[in-house]
Amino acid sequence: MLTRTATRLSQGIRQASSDVRRVTLIPGDGIGPEISSAVVKIFEAAKAPIDWDPVDVTPIKGKDGKMRIPPRCIELMHQNKVGLKGPLATPIGKGHRSLNLAVRLEFDLYANVRPCRSLAGHKTLYDNVDVVTIRENTEGEYSGIEHEVSKGVMQSIKLITEKASRNIANYAFEYARSQGRKMVTAVHKANIMRMSDGLFLRMCREEAAKYPDIKFKEAYLDTVCLNMVQDPSQYDVLVMPNLYGDILSDLCAGLVGGLGVTPSGNIGKDAAVFESVHGTAPDIAGQDKANPTALLLSSVMMLRYMKLNEHARKIENACFEAIAEGTCKTGDLGGNGTCTSFTNDIIARINNSD
Ligand code: NAD
Repeated sequence: MLTRTATRLSQGIRQASSDVRRVTLIPGDGIGPEISSAVVKIFEAAKAPIDWDPVDVTPIKGKDGKMRIPPRCIELMHQNKVGLKGPLATPIGKGHRSLNLAVRLEFDLYANVRPCRSLAGHKTLYDNVDVVTIRENTEGEYSGIEHEVSKGVMQSIKLITEKASRNIANYAFEYARSQGRKMVTAVHKANIMRMSDGLFLRMCREEAAKYPDIKFKEAYLDTVCLNMVQDPSQYDVLVMPNLYGDILSDLCAGLVGGLGVTPSGNIGKDAAVFESVHGTAPDIAGQDKANPTALLLSSVMMLRYMKLNEHARKIENACFEAIAEGTCKTGDLGGNGTCTSFTNDIIARINNSD
């Protein structure tokens, strides 16, 4: 199924040209192929200079009998350095590294970036949410250092290093400056974890001193959770260790309408993979009900990362307008539209804006 989808996408969209940039496209499972093909069509309408390299990432059995990510995916990422990924149904704990983990380690994608902004036309608790969570993506509680101390006693090590903390703090300030944002808040629990979170906070303070144009604040994780659900307007860019970011970024997504509309990017020094935050939605897969917004907004982040700002703006505006006017909104946003009709609505708006 996946191979067929990847081949079909490949035949439909590969147009060799010297001035286009190549991007590795991982359509994914479940609703992945539907929303990926929506993005491809919208990019064509916007004349985005992208040439896709679709790839099937279904794990294959190696000579040693172990399941592995197909090497072609990693090869293509080495060539293209930029990827767009739909959701994957890779089962957890089945003995092979997930694609996310494999790519994150191979390319040191140390920054997980998730912008969460209220969408006009999609009513939620607040209409003024506009925050970006920047999560350290390589260490903390997710370092994978775990062992059994004795029967009935397990230990997981939280690893915090000066290098990774400084890298993510620096990324947050650079991001704030490049996106015209005013404030960075470091989220931590250094009152309890004095050494590990203390080191993280110290690196944030040192980086903050290099960016006098960006306001710097520090806040405890629990305080941020409370404030975020009571008055999210007080936050702008938030930077934090891995586990805190995993949780807080979902809380922020919930404030703007859920995972179905939330984009993300995993970014390293010289490679990046952008992906929708939601899963494969098996309950609606193959029924033309999926909302392509999260993957589309992830692809807009990708265009900005590639400095294709004009194409990003055109696609983003058309998507926001389509949601605001709502005639073709998908069921998850309370509309009667389909993935196809919503995609066509966005394409019509792009064509009209030319
Ligand atoms: P899910 O996000 O797939 O679905 C949760 C609910 O949200 C479902 O009702 C679904 O229909 C709806 N939904 C999600 N995305 C939508 C969209 N774009 N448009 C409309 N509705 C949408 O979460 P789940 O059911 O817990 O997970 C299903 C599978 O996805 C699991 O195998 C899980 O491991 C995998 N998953 C993958 C990723 C990833 O690859 N990044 C992330 C999360 C879950």
